[in-house]
Amino acid sequence: MTQLVWFRNDLRVSDHSALTEACQAPGADIKAIFLWTPKQWQQHDYGLARQYSIRSALVTVARDLAQLGIPLTILQADTWLSGVDQLIDFARQHSVRQLTFHREFGWDEVQRDQYAIEQARLAGITTWVGEDRVGFDPASLLTGQGEMYRVFTPFKKRWLSQHAETPLTAPLPVPSTRAPALSELPDIPEVDWNGTAELPLNEHDAHEHLDQFADAMPRYKDQRDLPATEGTSRLSAALASGAISLRQCMHSAFSHPKFDSAGVQTWLSELIWREFYHYLLYWRPDIARHKPFYPRWDAFPWLQDETALHHWQQGQTGVPIVDAGMRQLAQTGWMHNRVRMIVAMYLVKLLKIDWRQGERWFAQQLLDIDFASNNGGWQWCASTGVDAAPYFRIFNPHTQSQRFDPSGDYIRRWVPELASVPAKAIHEPTQQLARHLGYARPLIDYKRARAETLELFKQL
Ligand SMILES: Cc1cc2nc3c(=O)[nH]c(=O)nc-3n(C[C@H](O)[C@H](O)[C@H](O)COP(=O)(O)OP(=O)(O)OC[C@H]3O[C@@H](n4cnc5c(N)ncnc54)[C@H](O)[C@@H]3O)c2cc1C
Repeated sequence: MTQLVWFRNDLRVSDHSALTEACQAPGADIKAIFLWTPKQWQQHDYGLARQYSIRSALVTVARDLAQLGIPLTILQADTWLSGVDQLIDFARQHSVRQLTFHREFGWDEVQRDQYAIEQARLAGITTWVGEDRVGFDPASLLTGQGEMYRVFTPFKKRWLSQHAETPLTAPLPVPSTRAPALSELPDIPEVDWNGTAELPLNEHDAHEHLDQFADAMPRYKDQRDLPATEGTSRLSAALASGAISLRQCMHSAFSHPKFDSAGVQTWLSELIWREFYHYLLYWRPDIARHKPFYPRWDAFPWLQDETALHHWQQGQTGVPIVDAGMRQLAQTGWMHNRVRMIVAMYLVKLLKIDWRQGERWFAQQLLDIDFASNNGGWQWCASTGVDAAPYFRIFNPHTQSQRFDPSGDYIRRWVPELASVPAKAIHEPTQQLARHLGYARPLIDYKRARAETLELFKQL
């Protein structure tokens, strides 16, 4: 009986319930498939960084599956729906009896999966759909009034109590098969991304990284906001492509000898923020249609300022911490979380540019782009989202910089024009110094921009 495992954003072989399910079928002949759909990804604004991240994880999956005697086929298609047609043809040709995959929450993803289930049914193929992206069934987590949660803290409490009732079981091992190893590997399209990744992208590297990070996890709370320090796990790209599973990360926290430490608890909390944003996408799929969570924000008069947007994108705003973050993003496909918040607030609340422009740019640049977390992060910073920053909270990028990069080392690394500037002057260089060093002039006056934005927000 042939089983077909459809790999998507779950690019690993351990703790892969769809693969385990397929391997459990008696006498199973197992095949794996992946849809390579760059045009569809472009429609979602995903750029080359994301494709590079997918490719890096996929190469390892292909090799590991070959060791298990499971051939991986890559089907190239323009759209997901035409890809599904090809997948069903493939399944028919190989007399597949069951198709297994994991559920995803995005708008187009849900349409794609409904179409696949229906086409499989018409072809006489059963489907098995597992939960993988998150650690719970979003439909099962509701407030006492039977409504969706809109505030993070009660959501987190409920999430943790659910975990206490039904603990996340230990991650699944790599399944075993009796098939001989294969020597042939599929052709996976090359991706011409010109950045340098500084974080793990495939399953093996991600686990090595998690093991190392486990030692640092108790210090996470103290170090996570310092962009010059490697105080966070850097597992976001691996979590986004599924090279490591949420359950494997959670397990590392729950089984940590210092589980009660503030560091481990804070890391767990960040993983639950990720859960929360996926939960919001499940309940409000229209946010994937570029809608603010609260419709009143549709009326906000965002500025159409292409020049300022371009300066922001290129890291030429004249605000060192903002430029450092934007250049880190361009060169490595990743940006530190504290700096993501600073650059996002700067774009939205000081340049008054629509948060969706920032969301789009991040999607094009990030290795770890994940629609739910990106949208959640942007709507949080713009105050348009659920449990977001209050509208009057506007980060002062200069004081943020002094507080979280006191030595200026982060700025010096990413803004070489300022490499020789001492800590005292680096956060807000004088115009004279900036001109002398060939560094950009500030686009705006912080105090004036803040006052204008507050006035507009109040009117809304
Ligand atoms: C404007 C903006 C856009 C963002 N876009 C994305 C995105 O596209 N993809 C993405 O994975 N994260 C995004 N984040 C969240 C966060 O910045 C990154 O997850 C984090 O910087 C990744 O680094 P890390 O793996 O070292 O995280 P750690 O601090 O080690 O956290 C562990 C994991 O928890 C999750 N996580 C941590 N913080 C958050 C958060 N605030 N929201 C949701 N999940 C979180 C991530 O999966 C992360 O890998 C965004 C944040 C902001 C403010």
